[in-house]
Amino acid sequence: MPELPEVETVMRGLAARLQGRRIVRAAVSRPDMRWPFPEGLAARLTGARVEGFRRRAKYILMRLDAGQSVLIHLGMSGRLVLDRAAPNRPVAHEHLVLETDHGWRMGFVDPRRFGSVDLVATTDEDSHRLLAGLGPEPLGADFTPEQLSDALAGRRTPIKAALLDQRTVAGLGNIYVCEALFRAGISPRRSAHTVAGARAGRLVPAIKATLEEAIAAGGSSLRDYVQPDGELGYFQHAWKVYGREGEPCERCPGDAACTGIARIVQSARSTFYCPRTQR
Ligand SMILES: [Zn+2]
Repeated sequence: MPELPEVETVMRGLAARLQGRRIVRAAVSRPDMRWPFPEGLAARLTGARVEGFRRRAKYILMRLDAGQSVLIHLGMSGRLVLDRAAPNRPVAHEHLVLETDHGWRMGFVDPRRFGSVDLVATTDEDSHRLLAGLGPEPLGADFTPEQLSDALAGRRTPIKAALLDQRTVAGLGNIYVCEALFRAGISPRRSAHTVAGARAGRLVPAIKATLEEAIAAGGSSLRDYVQPDGELGYFQHAWKVYGREGEPCERCPGDAACTGIARIVQSARSTFYCPRTQR
C-alpha cells in the first residue's frame, strides 16, 4: 500500500512530466473504481491544461486550467504508469488513461480497484468529502508539538493507533508510524494523552524527519521520480524497525538487555519496536 512518501514521489514524477501540458485524449475503461467516476470524466479532461499538482495526505490533486482538480487516490494497489508511446495492446486493469500534447501517456492501473478518481473545484479541494476531515499535514508548518499535544489530550488509545487516525495527523500509515516512534524513543503502547511536552517535542520532528528521509530516498534513486519502466512512486528504502522482528536494534548494539526488535499486534496491524529504548 503506498504511503505518504511514495505518494509524494508519484506526485513529483507526474509534475516533472505533465505540468504545463494539455490533455489531448482521455478514456475510462469502466464506470467506476472504488466509487463511480464523475459523469463525463473523459470528456471533461480532454482539452484541459495541467496547471500543477498538490499532495494532501495520500491524495494527489492534479489542477487543471478550468478551475477543476482531479483528485486521485491510489488505494491499496493502484499504480500510475507513464509511457512515451501507447502500448499496442490493452493494459490489464488500466481504468483511466490520459494522453498529452507532448506524447506522454498516463495510465491508472489498479487490479483491486480500491483506488479512486474524482473531480473537485480547485477552490473547494479541502472541503471534498475525502479531505474535509483530515488532520494537519505532517510536513506542514501547522503540525507542531503543541498542536499534537492538544489533539492527543484525553485520548486513552495507544499512541500508535492515535497516529494512524487520520484526524490526528493526515497521511501516516503503519510503516512510518513504527519508524517515527522508534526514532522518537516512544513506545507504541504508550497511552496517547501522555505524549505531550518533551515527548511531543521529540515525536513531531521524528515524524517529519522520517518522512523527509524517505522522500529524499525516492528522489535520489529515481530519475525525475520515475522508474525506468515508467512506474511512479516506488523505491527501495531501508526501515530501521519495520519488518525486522528479531533482528538486532541499531540503537542498542551489543547490549545484552536488548532482545532485538519485537513485533506485537495492535488494532490488527503489526507493530515493530525496540522494547528497551522505546518507553
Ligand atoms: Zn534496542
